[in-house]
Amino acid sequence: MVEKVLDELIGSLKCLPGIGPKSATRMAYYLLQRDPSGAKKLANSILKSFELLGKCSQCNNFTEAKTCNLCLNEERDNQLLCIVEMPTDLLMFEQTHSFKGKYYILMGRLSPLDGIGPKDLNMDNLYNRCKDPSIKEIIIATNFTKEGDATATYITELTKDLGIKISRIARGMPSGSEVEYTDTGTLAQAISERKPLN
Ligand SMILES: [Zn+2]
Repeated sequence: MVEKVLDELIGSLKCLPGIGPKSATRMAYYLLQRDPSGAKKLANSILKSFELLGKCSQCNNFTEAKTCNLCLNEERDNQLLCIVEMPTDLLMFEQTHSFKGKYYILMGRLSPLDGIGPKDLNMDNLYNRCKDPSIKEIIIATNFTKEGDATATYITELTKDLGIKISRIARGMPSGSEVEYTDTGTLAQAISERKPLN
């Protein structure tokens, strides 16, 4: 039996994605034995984040201000709104340097099996954001999973009365991939969403 406080620490670490009881135990001992100053810094950072970070009024991302820097950036194109599931998805798109519009983060996806419905994702908030008259096109960039597809369908239905262009990112073949080794779902999508070359 481990001490109660230690048991609590291990239990807390288990809330991290992909961390089971074994890894949580290893991490707890590591923090206590090998890196106590790092552990204190980590604890403070977590507390500070919860104290200071709120949701951006426009995109839903975490920010210390009412509106985040990306949404306030006047060089970004207000006409394009890209809807993603998570903040990490936004970071991935930003790394491509190919999108200069604005974002909206759902902070999840519709998943009836997990009890996540439109209210949990505050879809009313998304609808209100899409009503911004400067928006000319929304690009749905949810994942190509069952839940991501269902979320994309929901958003399409939700926003269709606004009369703006709605698109979804293409599910292309990964660069460097060979037709022979591509799964049939990807391949089917690749051919139906082919782009003209002339
Ligand atoms: Zn923002």
